[in-house]
Amino acid sequence: MEVVKAAARQGSVSCGSVAIRADQKSYTYGQLISSAWRISRLLCNACLKTVDGLRENDHLGGARIGIVAKPSAEFVAGMLGTWFGGGVAVPLALSYPEAELLHVMNDSDVSMILSTEDHSKLMKNVAAKSGAQFSLIPPVPCIPSSTTENDKMDTGEIGVGKSLEGFDNSINIQGEDPALIIYTSSTTGKPKGAVHTHQGILAQAQMLVNAWEYTSADQFLHCLPLHHVHGLFNALLAPLHAGSTVEFIPKFSVRGIWQRWRESYPEDGTKAEDAISVFTGVPTIYTRLIQGYEAMDPELKEASASAASKLRLMMCGSSALPYPVMQQWETITGHRLLERYGMTEFVMAISNPLRGNRKGGTVGKPFPGVQAKILADGTGDDTTGVGELCIKSPSLFKEYWKLPEVTKESFIDGGFFKTGDAVKLDEDGYYIILGRTSADIMKVGGYKLSALEIESVILEHPAVSECCVLGLPDKDYGEAVSAIVVPNAELKRRREEELKPAVSLEELCTWAKERLAPYKLPTRLFLWETLPLNAMGMVNKNELKKILAAEG
Ligand code: ATP
Ligand code: MG
Repeated sequence: MEVVKAAARQGSVSCGSVAIRADQKSYTYGQLISSAWRISRLLCNACLKTVDGLRENDHLGGARIGIVAKPSAEFVAGMLGTWFGGGVAVPLALSYPEAELLHVMNDSDVSMILSTEDHSKLMKNVAAKSGAQFSLIPPVPCIPSSTTENDKMDTGEIGVGKSLEGFDNSINIQGEDPALIIYTSSTTGKPKGAVHTHQGILAQAQMLVNAWEYTSADQFLHCLPLHHVHGLFNALLAPLHAGSTVEFIPKFSVRGIWQRWRESYPEDGTKAEDAISVFTGVPTIYTRLIQGYEAMDPELKEASASAASKLRLMMCGSSALPYPVMQQWETITGHRLLERYGMTEFVMAISNPLRGNRKGGTVGKPFPGVQAKILADGTGDDTTGVGELCIKSPSLFKEYWKLPEVTKESFIDGGFFKTGDAVKLDEDGYYIILGRTSADIMKVGGYKLSALEIESVILEHPAVSECCVLGLPDKDYGEAVSAIVVPNAELKRRREEELKPAVSLEELCTWAKERLAPYKLPTRLFLWETLPLNAMGMVNKNELKKILAAEG
């Protein structure tokens, strides 16, 4: 909630400007915050009846409020409403199967589930099973469609003086109070709830706004889930902190995204009033956008590429951006994607620069205020070689929810958090992410190899559409470099007509040995139809290892 209050004090947010667009509707900051205020009253009234240990009569006292809604004004109002009432927001994934939803709800002890009409049947049921109350988020009033630009200034709704400052007088919430529990993506184990405080969230929002120069003139096209830090912070909370507009797209669609950019910057050279200026995605989104572009006819290609080139900023992260994808994107749109590095526990910490050299294959340098160090084999500092990255930042999470031992083990002296990611520095002090120490670093005959480096090379092979490299047990070398490849569909079809596999291990190695040292070449190849990706485009390699090991 500090995120919005601080922005109001700085004057970057005004009541009448558009905060959210969704489903062809626009919602002002005033409308959003008035709704959030009403929701906070509703929550306090409802939760008072059931939650013990409240600090004050009208205060949620840190009660956990689960939010299950598609990205919408209602989701945002529900989250802000929870904060205004002194509660802890727990955004839950729409895609979770019931068992996983129940696990996360029980783990976080949610007192109340906030949801919308479209999910109410399922969520009422799940809430009942977990003993939580259920409440619908009332629809947020929007700007009437016939409203003119001048009228928009009157839809603030907050009341006297229409100043967001009024919310400074709301209930007493301290910066160090918990505000948010966000679950990790469970790529390496069970999802853990990372507890973030109001001041940590504010620090992060300020960091992103400063580094990437978000302003009230920016308009974000948002196509990411909101239960993960990328979609929640980079593309929602930081933009709201800057007073920008965030437009949610109803359903991820490659065609829809390209079309939205073309509408923003039509071919007659004009710029639409609601033109998108910033876009951020995970690498798989860019891969899909490239595939969508390739399938267009030449005229549409030209219009699409030209429109995309006019955005102010395009960013990528959440998993490694393969070099070939970065190059293709630059060739098509002229944008060198700004790649950055973050995780659930501290949100974003290291980034390529907005202005200056964005180096492919690296994630740039720590943000001002963030300290990074490299821990070699857990025994001491090594700022030159490979080691585990440790981060200290004002946006660092407070603890893992109900996991005090895991929290303790995750920190080293001086308050640095161990990321579990292996990194090294390049000659300019830019960080190179080599992958997770637990799954991406393979130990092959005495060498430590980065699966990400090998994936990036294999992906350049024309027969390869997607790829995942991992180490499988090997009696001679410890681990064997193993590649799972999803072949290019067109090439696969042609080769099948010749009764040949889309690509063989020999072909791949003959080609890759120009680019990789011999001990880095894969010795096992699996051709799959698809890779099992989670909502953030990540592969759970430890799961895949188990599956492949079981297959022998
Ligand atoms: P869990 O902790 O439950 O196993 P997770 O680590 O996948 O799940 P997240 O916090 O969503 O959950 O992901 C953070 C991880 O994503 C980082 O530790 C890092 O391995 C990876 N990552 C993020 N950005 C990048 C990037 N630009 N390049 C490479 N890896 C990245
Ligand atoms: Mg993790």
